[in-house]
Formats: sequence, structure tokens, C-alpha cells
Amino acid sequence: MSSRILLVEDEPGLVLTLTDLLSGEGYTVESAGDGPTGLRRAAGEAFDLVVLDVMLPGKNGFDVVRELRQQGKDVPVLMLTAKSQLVDRVVGLKLGADDYLTKPFEPEELLARVEALLRRVKKEGLAHVKTFQFGNVEVDFERGDVRKNGRPVSLAGKELELLRYLVEHRGNVVSRDELLEGVWQYQPGVSSRTIDVHVAWLRQKLEDAPQTPRHIHTVRGVGYRFAP
Ligand code: CA
Repeated sequence: MSSRILLVEDEPGLVLTLTDLLSGEGYTVESAGDGPTGLRRAAGEAFDLVVLDVMLPGKNGFDVVRELRQQGKDVPVLMLTAKSQLVDRVVGLKLGADDYLTKPFEPEELLARVEALLRRVKKEGLAHVKTFQFGNVEVDFERGDVRKNGRPVSLAGKELELLRYLVEHRGNVVSRDELLEGVWQYQPGVSSRTIDVHVAWLRQKLEDAPQTPRHIHTVRGVGYRFAP
């Protein structure tokens, strides 16, 4: 599957050039022409990488990356800074950007950075999370041992798999389709209703107040998001 890249840039010429360049390498490229749209799409959709300009209408790139991280989204961000001043790079990285590129840049340089960031993410993604702790819950996924306030909680196999999937994608919105594929491997007879029921069970067992969950959030019309 080709990586999806969101390009947040307001100069039409550059959008065109970069879209051509990146699609030519096999990436799926979508673009947003201002800060608020870029933030909304980066936060709400599943992109593998965001290429983010600093100077944008509506909201600058620094604010976009900061708010993205505040919302718990860990999608890699490559910032395009117009100035070569050190302060811009330092600020960008401090706010949560993963890398930066100073305009003007060579196409090859952009491609190299994009590839490097995507490679890094894929490598990290390969390692399954083994143990995880959130709130008063401790999970050892390898041993299937789940404890809440130190007391054992019994989770069925699929509940544990679902929890692991949500934890491994924490901060990101996970759609029901993605769960059907990732957890149930499109098993016949499994519907989005099955997912909702499993989520309800997980909340019942792990949340202090299942009706107002602190960790397993519903994202209306889309799916779920796990917040540690
Ligand atoms: Ca710009």
C-alpha cells in the first residue's frame, strides 16, 4: 500500500510541483491550502506523513504542529521553513516537528527526507508493544495479563487484540474498517456492531466510568481513539 502524504502549502505552484514529484515516487498525495484545513485533516484522517509549510493563511505551521501534538497525533511532520534562521528550525522541532527543510530546496532532498521519515516510522511500527500502562491499568500483552488497581482483569482473546491495536495506534483515530481488517481480518459475520460491542466490554472492564470513558474515546461517525 502506498504511503499517504498530506501536503499543507498555500502556494499553488509549489503544491503542483511537489504533488507531481511525490506522486511520481508512488506516494498518494493530498493537499490543504491553509492552516486550519491542514490541522483538521492531519488530526482527523490517517496520513503517514505531513509536509507542512510554516507560512500559511489562517494558522501558521508552528501552531498547526503544536495543536496536532496536543491532540495526541503522532503522525510524522516535515516542516518547510522559508527562512534559514536557526530559530525557525529550533522552534519547529521543539513544537513537535520531526524534521525540517529550508526553502528553496532540491527535489531530491525533499524525497530523501520523506523516505527517511517514512522508513523510521515503519521500523518503529514493526515492534509490537509488549507492556503498557495507562491510568490504573497495567497490561502485559505477551502474557495476556491485565490488571486494574493491581487486581487481575479477564479479557477475551479478541478484547486483548483490540486493546493492543488501539494502544499501538494511540492518539490516532482508528476507523471501524481498519479494526475489521487489523483485528478481525475481515472474518465473515463480523460487522461494525461486533466492534462496538467489544469496545463496550473493554470500557466496562477497564474504565473507571464506562459511560464517560477517559481512555477509549468514540469519534462520532468514524471510529475510536485511544488516549493513554
Ligand atoms: Ca506558504
